[in-house]
Amino acid sequence: MTLTTAIQTKISRRHFLKGVGASAAYTFLPQDFARLPAQTPILPPITIPPSLMLHSSDGGAEFLPRLLEHLHKDGFTAVTYQAWYKQVQDGHPLAKPVILSIDDISLAHSACASFNTFMQMKEWIKAAGMTAVYGVITEPVINEQPQREQDEARWDMMQAWIEEGFELASHTSYHSNFNAIDTGPRPDFTPADYEAEIVRSANLIEAKLAQRQLPYMVQTLILPYGSGYSYQHPKPQIHPGIMAACRQTNIKFVIGIPHGRQPQPITSFTNPNELVYLGRIPPAYLTDLNGQQYPDAGQTAAWLHSWQASFQQGR
Ligand SMILES: [Zn+2]
Repeated sequence: MTLTTAIQTKISRRHFLKGVGASAAYTFLPQDFARLPAQTPILPPITIPPSLMLHSSDGGAEFLPRLLEHLHKDGFTAVTYQAWYKQVQDGHPLAKPVILSIDDISLAHSACASFNTFMQMKEWIKAAGMTAVYGVITEPVINEQPQREQDEARWDMMQAWIEEGFELASHTSYHSNFNAIDTGPRPDFTPADYEAEIVRSANLIEAKLAQRQLPYMVQTLILPYGSGYSYQHPKPQIHPGIMAACRQTNIKFVIGIPHGRQPQPITSFTNPNELVYLGRIPPAYLTDLNGQQYPDAGQTAAWLHSWQASFQQGR
């Protein structure tokens, strides 16, 4: 059975999950496969869309429009984490999705020097018929002071972006680094710190949109600096404090940089209690004759293509 036919057979999937005793709180364990009747189809894992991490420094005219052209020519369809999640749940994931995420936007008053660049990036992406995920720092720290006052006009703009299909992710309140030196949790971080970074940030985004009569759930957390995932540990995982904070919100996806590219079991998506960790790649940076680094559109598109190709079903 191919991935597409397996997932499109929604009724069989429900039947399958029911058959193995899956419920909202049940996690399907590898040993459960042994208990399945021989004729029960085993569903293949879900392939993860290749995902690119962008910043305002990647918002130049010589890079982003060319990258979008390459992706279009390569047959990629841009999607957000939210939209892709819904497609997986509905049993109709896109054949060749790609997720573009753009970090470090802020709607705090006078706290986002690159706001015009973020707007330009969004216009190019929209003009190319694509979409993206913006990682919002809700209370960025400037001169050691969290900037709490929000720019309501910019939040009006965010409402319009979401209505056009863009996603807002939490990129935390203060953009702290969550990692100790071994990539495990920082010893000085308390549950209150995780709540301040994650719960308050997600709540603020949802509240600003609710004020505009837009019901919105923040389902994605983009980790600052890719920290918060202990990738150098023998059993890498999202830091437990981050998991606990995410479970107080609507967050389903935790986005870092390393790992998180392998296909994931379908139960990761059907079990509402399970957080899904996904990685990203940065753009391909080349060095010019003067030693200056610049992002290269062709090479970046090639990296995304090879991520996609390396986890094709059946390989
Ligand atoms: Zn960031």
